[in-house]
This record gives sequence, C-alpha cells and structure tokens, in this order.
Amino acid sequence: SHDMIFNTLSMKNLILSILFFIVGISSISAQNWCGTVAHQESLIENQPEKAAALQERIEQFNRLQKENLANGIKNNDHYIVPVVFHVIHEGGSENISFDQINDQMRILNEDFARLNPDTTNTPAIFAQNAGDTNIEFRLAKIDPDGNCTQGVTRTFSNLTNGARNNVKELIQWNPSRYMNVWVVKSIENFSEDGNIVLGFAQFPNQLSSDPETDGIVIRHNYCGSIESASSNYGRTLTHEVGHWLNLRHIWGDADCGDDNIDDTPTGQEPNYNACTGNFPYNVGGCSASSGQTITQSYGEMFMNYMDYSEDYCMNMFSLGQGSRMRSALSQYRNTLISESNLVATGTNDNYIIVECAPITEFEADYA
Ligand code: ZN
Ligand code: CA
Repeated sequence: SHDMIFNTLSMKNLILSILFFIVGISSISAQNWCGTVAHQESLIENQPEKAAALQERIEQFNRLQKENLANGIKNNDHYIVPVVFHVIHEGGSENISFDQINDQMRILNEDFARLNPDTTNTPAIFAQNAGDTNIEFRLAKIDPDGNCTQGVTRTFSNLTNGARNNVKELIQWNPSRYMNVWVVKSIENFSEDGNIVLGFAQFPNQLSSDPETDGIVIRHNYCGSIESASSNYGRTLTHEVGHWLNLRHIWGDADCGDDNIDDTPTGQEPNYNACTGNFPYNVGGCSASSGQTITQSYGEMFMNYMDYSEDYCMNMFSLGQGSRMRSALSQYRNTLISESNLVATGTNDNYIIVECAPITEFEADYA
C-alpha cells in the first residue's frame, strides 16, 4: 500500500538523517586552524576605505614577482630577522620558559634553512624544488630603549584567554624593527566555526596601513616542541611566519585556488590527514594554473608548511616560496632587515653577547 511505501521511505530517510547527523558531527569536530585569512578579512571589513589600496599593493607585489621571474632576476640575499616573544600569561603553563622559546627558535631556523631532520620524507619529485629560504631568525639582544634583553617580555593579563588583537595593545615593539610574537593560552575563533585557532599572522602588505596589529599570535602549547608544547613539533610558527612574509595557503584559500607560487602544484582544499604514506595524493584533483612549473600528475604538496597537515607530515618550503618571502622582506620589511637595524637590535654577526642582569627582568615584570 501507499502507507507501507511511505513508511519504508520515511524509515530510510530517518536512517539517512541519522547517518548524515553522525557524519556531520565528525566533520564538525574541532579542526586545528590558522586565523590569518580571517584576520585580514576582519581588518578589511572594519576599514573598507583601506581595501582598494591594499588590493593594489597585493597586485603590484604579484606583478613585480612575475616580472622578476620572467627577467631571470633572482634575490639570493641572506636575511636576518630580529625577533621578540611577548608572553601574555596568568602564571600558568602558558608562561612558557626561555628554554621552550629557544626550542621554537631552533625549529623555526631549521625549517627555514631546510636543516629539519625529516627532509627525507619529501617525495623526490618535490624535493627538487625544496630548499633553504635564506632567511634566519634571531632573538633580539637590545630592546627598543637600547637596554639589554633576552628577546622575551612577560605581561600578566587575562587577555591571554581567547586572545586576538587585544593582546597587541598590551605590548608591541616597533614592527618595522622586530618580528613580534605573542604567546597566549588560547585564541578566539574569528569565524566561530568551532575550529581551534593555533595561531594567526598579519600579511606584510598591511604593515603600512595597520602597523599596530603586525605580528603573530600563537597558542603556548603549539610554541616549540618541549614542556607545554611537548605533543607538537613546533611548526605552527613556521606556517605563520610564512604568512607574515606574504605566503598564501597552498590551496590559495579557494577550491583549486592559486597561491601565486609556480613550483607548488595547485591544491584543491586544505589537507588535514594526508601524510608521507599517502603520496601521490589527490592526483588530477585540480588542473594546473597558468605559469605553473610543476605538473599535477604528482598530486598535492601536502607536506608543504603552508598546508594544514599535521606537524610531523610537513617538511618543506619550495624555492618559489623562499623567493617570494625574500621579496616580501626587501619590499615591505626593508627597515627590519637593514644592517643598521641588526646593530640596533643586537642581532648582527659581530654583536658581543652581554648577559642581562636578572634583576632588570624581575623589576620589569612587576613594575
Ligand atoms: Zn595559515
Ligand atoms: Ca602553485
């Protein structure tokens, strides 16, 4: 009868609904996320009058990159970036030790120099285009007032919970002279999609318009690989510094989007679960974008630091990404990398390390 058919159909629908509900829940379950694109979108949303100029800067940068590439102009300079960590804490495990910060600096420098221990996990076809970015990071030894520093400040504040740009108002060193990294307990999710935001950066094309928010915010338990971050490999900062130096996500933040890098194959969407054993992954998922020098027949470069793979599955920047980051330094952050700034921040090669008097740090904390 009709009733029987109806009942069978609705039973099927019910079962399907339950199945979709279960599948839905598992796909809703928290993913680890980077908030950089959401940060840029919210800045533009709040200041629409700046959007056109920003778009022009972005296009100009991309144009120049393409022209230089076409003309065989290569920037092979070695750049040094002075760094300061601002630990925002309430006295808990988010008040990470100097050892943990040093461990993060080691990982960052290994990854950027392709001295990371897991380069052998890069598939040979991609390893041809993987390389040293020629960018080095050093903790500042002189603060903005000319005083001795370890390159770390500590501020007691409950803004460390669900942090976003508000922690930058607590303390920031001149972003034209230092790379600012704020370490916090947790980060507010800008897009409210239930994902856990591990960190977010600001692209360098916004340094001129929004200097007060330039820098990187990172969760303490993803900063480094020891102590409070012992379950991670410290590559959240590698990824965020990539953004801070103008790299896009490898999928171009769109379905088969363009990351403006010719030696990375076009990616369809963020990869969360692809790892070494999955190569080649999603072969033919996207068609090649114009100018691309690497074929799609090897699938996606899920082991690139600008994908969303787990820390232990990532192991490379491409040479094209290194070139784009060096261009970002010379075009947007040229004061930062200048010899006079390295001298002023105590990060030049000839700087003679002075032990800071511990009493100064103590007084600064509670002043
Ligand atoms: Zn990101
Ligand atoms: Ca690409």
